[in-house]
Amino acid sequence: MPVHRPRVVIVGGGFGGLAAARALRRAPVEVIVIDRVNHHLFQPLLYQVATSVLSPGQIGSPLRGIVGSQRNTTVVLAEVTGVDREKRHVVARSADRENVAIPYDILVLATGARHSYFGHGEFERYAPGMKTLGDAVAIRNRILQAFEQAEAEEDPTRHRDLLTFVLVGAGPTGVEMAGALAVMVRTTLRSEFRRIDPTSARIVLVDMANRVLGTFAEDLSAAAKRRLERLGVEVRLGQAVDRIDEGGIVAGGERIASHTVIWTAGVAPSPAGQWLGAATDRAGRVKIQPDLTVPDHPEIFVVGDTASLEHDGRPLPGVAQVAMQQGRYAARLIRRRLQGKTAPRPFHYFDKGNMAVVGKGFAVLQSGPIRMSGFIAWLGWAAVHLEFLAQSSLRVSVFVQWVWTYLTGQRGSRLIVTPPVASIASPPVDAVTPAREPR
Ligand SMILES: Cc1cc2nc3c(=O)[nH]c(=O)nc-3n(C[C@H](O)[C@H](O)[C@H](O)COP(=O)(O)OP(=O)(O)OC[C@H]3O[C@@H](n4cnc5c(N)ncnc54)[C@H](O)[C@@H]3O)c2cc1C
Repeated sequence: MPVHRPRVVIVGGGFGGLAAARALRRAPVEVIVIDRVNHHLFQPLLYQVATSVLSPGQIGSPLRGIVGSQRNTTVVLAEVTGVDREKRHVVARSADRENVAIPYDILVLATGARHSYFGHGEFERYAPGMKTLGDAVAIRNRILQAFEQAEAEEDPTRHRDLLTFVLVGAGPTGVEMAGALAVMVRTTLRSEFRRIDPTSARIVLVDMANRVLGTFAEDLSAAAKRRLERLGVEVRLGQAVDRIDEGGIVAGGERIASHTVIWTAGVAPSPAGQWLGAATDRAGRVKIQPDLTVPDHPEIFVVGDTASLEHDGRPLPGVAQVAMQQGRYAARLIRRRLQGKTAPRPFHYFDKGNMAVVGKGFAVLQSGPIRMSGFIAWLGWAAVHLEFLAQSSLRVSVFVQWVWTYLTGQRGSRLIVTPPVASIASPPVDAVTPAREPR
């Protein structure tokens, strides 16, 4: 007689969902992981794909490959579009089917966040954000394409706009991206062009806040800013972006002409709150209880970026550590319930600290009372990021690539992989002057 095992449906194979699935590997449950993409993505290194250091395959791992040996776990490639709390099923669509009901006994929603343009959806067309591997590759194409266009452009007055890169948002992603771009033009690209000087590229980092890395201590923000400026990045703080169009941006009342604007500012949660009809915070994240369940629904957990929980009187930040710890906690609670044991103590977040890298061999690190910046912090950053990659093969491959890039300045993946004119919001093709023989 087959024994009915409770079915745990986990929506999202990111940091939170994957941590939950892994922690349930020996539990007497059937686990179904649903994700709209077939891979787990290590988002903290997306900027290294966008700046050609790493290739997409070095920061993304097929979910099937990660949990494939977990006999109680099935991976389903589908996009969830809703939840029926009464009938206890999620509604999903896949490549060839709509409105498929997938029943659950226990549901873990771990659907993360997406970009937020703070009510300016029209910015997206000209200033792509970076959340997925596709986004990072599109941005990489666009950056490399700008240098190619400038090299092919015979009118030197147009080089300036083509070689101006604007990053909107001076949080960790904007800072890391600006630093990496600055290093790229000064090392890898430096001697490879004939008509343009890549080191003349203008890299502008804009934010309406008064300091970069606003979640770090002030002295670390100041150290990161100094480092960026030493790398040649123009840091413009206290300037709101009023407009973004095909010609660039208007910030603090001044137009900055640019063909490449990248959005590294806000994020908004997934629509999980709408699916559940549950109470949300101002940002739209589902308000959860200290055991990570939705009020009145002990069978529904929400974890990670799409959940809102206060900790020591402050909302938990949208970082990978929170998502992973919450995913593991939800799995533990599920196991204990099935064993008839008492519930564990309410979720407690163990904050291991924050880090951000600024160019080559320099990072800022803040962990409890420890604050440091420089090379040692960068080594710590590298070790932690290697440790949290999803598979050992990736750890080896990324480590080798980093050492190679550090020593030689060469990058792992500098291919423009879509037809040049098809890259997102590129200038029209007739704006490109045909190239003549190099002088
Ligand atoms: C560029 C960038 C850099 C970052 N750097 C850092 C850093 O240095 N340190 C740090 O701690 N954090 C960093 N973060 C934040 C960190 O990545 C997130 O906090 C973390 O990924 C949240 O985990 P999660 O499980 O909630 O969501 P995610 O990891 O985003 O996973 C969500 C998953 O759900 C899937 N999904 C979404 N909607 C659906 C749907 N409708 N149907 C099916 N599947 C769906 C997605 O495909 C995805 O796989 C960074 C984020 C970004 C974007």
